Amino acid sequence: MRVLTCLYHEHNHWIVALAAIMCIVGSLTSVKLFQRTFTETGAQRYQWCFLSAFTAGSAIWATHFIAMLGYQPGVSVTLDGTLTVLSALIAVGGTGVGLLVGSSRNRFIAVFTGGGIIGLSIAAMHYVGMFAYRADGIVRWLPEYVIASLILSVGLSSLAIDRLRQSGVSKHIGLPAGLFAAAIVTLHFTGMAAFSVIPLPGLQSGGDSAAFTTLAQAVAVVAFLIIGAGISSHLVDRRTKSKSQEQLQYIALHDALTKLSNRRAFSEVLEAECEKLKNQGSPFALLMIDLDRFKPINDTLGHPSGDIVLQKVASRLRHAVRCGDFVARIGGDEFAVIAYGLTSEDEIRALAGRVVEILGRPFIVYGQVAELGASVGVSLAPDHGNDAETLVQCTDIALYTAKRAEERGYRLFEPSMQEVIQRRRFLEADLRRACMREDFKIVYQPIIDSATGAFTGAEALLRWTCPERGEVQPSEFIPILEELGLISRIGAGVLKQACHDAALWPQHLGLAVNISPVQLLDPRLPQTVMQALEDSGFPASRLELEITETALLGNDDIVMHTLTKLRESGIRISLDDFGTGYSSLSYLHRFPITRIKIDKSFVQRLPTDEGSASIVRAITQLGASLQMKVTAEGIETDEQMACIAEQGCNDVQGFLFSRPINASSIGDLFHNEKNKAAAA
Ligand code: C2E
Ligand code: MG
Ligand code: MG
Repeated sequence: MRVLTCLYHEHNHWIVALAAIMCIVGSLTSVKLFQRTFTETGAQRYQWCFLSAFTAGSAIWATHFIAMLGYQPGVSVTLDGTLTVLSALIAVGGTGVGLLVGSSRNRFIAVFTGGGIIGLSIAAMHYVGMFAYRADGIVRWLPEYVIASLILSVGLSSLAIDRLRQSGVSKHIGLPAGLFAAAIVTLHFTGMAAFSVIPLPGLQSGGDSAAFTTLAQAVAVVAFLIIGAGISSHLVDRRTKSKSQEQLQYIALHDALTKLSNRRAFSEVLEAECEKLKNQGSPFALLMIDLDRFKPINDTLGHPSGDIVLQKVASRLRHAVRCGDFVARIGGDEFAVIAYGLTSEDEIRALAGRVVEILGRPFIVYGQVAELGASVGVSLAPDHGNDAETLVQCTDIALYTAKRAEERGYRLFEPSMQEVIQRRRFLEADLRRACMREDFKIVYQPIIDSATGAFTGAEALLRWTCPERGEVQPSEFIPILEELGLISRIGAGVLKQACHDAALWPQHLGLAVNISPVQLLDPRLPQTVMQALEDSGFPASRLELEITETALLGNDDIVMHTLTKLRESGIRISLDDFGTGYSSLSYLHRFPITRIKIDKSFVQRLPTDEGSASIVRAITQLGASLQMKVTAEGIETDEQMACIAEQGCNDVQGFLFSRPINASSIGDLFHNEKNKAAAA
């Protein structure tokens, strides 16, 4: 009761209201700052705790002095500067220690000890502040109110800490802040109820009150500044937080290397566009781009150069598409474009063509020229589908078709392409069955010495007749066997059978067997080969393994080890289809290769195509200078043969001499020739 009468009769209400506002703002700010100690660790946690204590201490101190400004004891009053400063230090230091203990893991210690220290600090600040307050009169203290003020302050502070711990980092801080403010305010006014001044008779009121008011006002201003600093540090923190949130969001949706949107962003945008389509959104085209020959660039020029190429690709892509189109990097060397508002097929073809053309131009990296290319698959929404999954599927099919086409470029999705994919699925199933039943057979194509016209051996070629689909080309089924992981098993079978067949041929004839890049990466290959030779009794010196350049890319150590081991056993290695791949001279130098086979695509353009003729000439000369034998394959006409003979290739192979024939026919052919030679 006395608390209320003291508050009502002895205080200026406006100033009390100001003190209350000060107290509430200070409490809210302190609580918000203190919440940061829950999320931070180490030194940062102490910094936030200190900041919070500084704001809370200032709030307690300022509330006290503002309220004292409104106190009208009816006598003149002075203020002791030292005790005033001491009271401020007690407020900040005491709450600091209290908050530190209040952030402890142990709830009991945090609530009772931490809360207790804070409650006592508020009280200590108040009573030291009251000792600084010198009134000209007889000062009386009512102990029961002093004790009540202590109990209220400690109790409410403990409750505030408890609620604060419960609310954690939640935005609802009203209750803990309210309890903290209540602890300050109730202590102050209960404490004031314990205090009374009886004026000394004859002494005039007023006196130094003016000085006191100026000092108190200055104190209040300082307190406001400190709380203002607290609020602004909180706001700065919030802004930094939202900025780092923005940064996190950016990282989550962008590719770090090219700064393009990433796969996740692509999926989200595509989903959103498809959603819009359902609500009369505008049509769009989806392009998926796969770089050709990127891997060799990474392998030969190094990864830093590969990264630069990718950045350049991204920048060219951005220029190739129209402003507003969406570009993303969705895989290592895969990109996607969503081109909006394209309606005519011509426009779409123009865009896809531009992408292919722009990415086909050479890239200069660290003074080296890197030539890439791009295959592009395109589908249209809503023509080919109006949901993300279907569209991606259609574009994938178009891209798959583009990648496998003779001439690289772009392909617009057509429903018939689906049949190709379907056929592939059937082939996969049939091939798995064929592997179980060992449905494959081997044919042999003779190889001829171009100078004498005599046979030098034969190349073993795999054949598969599918019961449902008839004869399937090796160029179609071998890549599937590779992808299904079946090629090593089938390849081992080819080696075994071919060595077995060739063991029956006249002894001067050799055998060439094709080895897939996948087989070459299998460390068991030398053992498989040796086993096939041992089982058949066919000598290693008559066996030649044909590998392709792709097998040599980027797998230096493994491949080198395997090839060296094979060479040490006396087996020869030839580089097949030379001229179609990367035609890198470094392979010829680095790996133990004994023969180059000029790809049939050059041979078949002879004799009319001057370019092919010069390539054949260059390869033949290269072979001679490296002391390697050279074979020209795919000779179909006498003119081609004449041209090849002129270049000085060692061996020739082609339909002109013989198509691939079965094991018994080639055996007969070889024995007949031998007999003829013997008879002559
Ligand atoms: P390759 O090793 O370059 O084999 C030569 C290919 O050219 C064979 O095709 C052969 O039939 C064909 N050919 C030969 N002379 C002529 C000609 O005068 N004109 C034309 N147009 N073609 C000719 P095939 O048998 O279809 O094999 C294609 C490719 O499949 C082979 O190319 C080889 O890379 C791969 N291959 C074949 N058998 C095997 C095998 O057992 N294992 C592995 N890993 N790959 C194999
Ligand atoms: Mg071959
Ligand atoms: Mg070849």
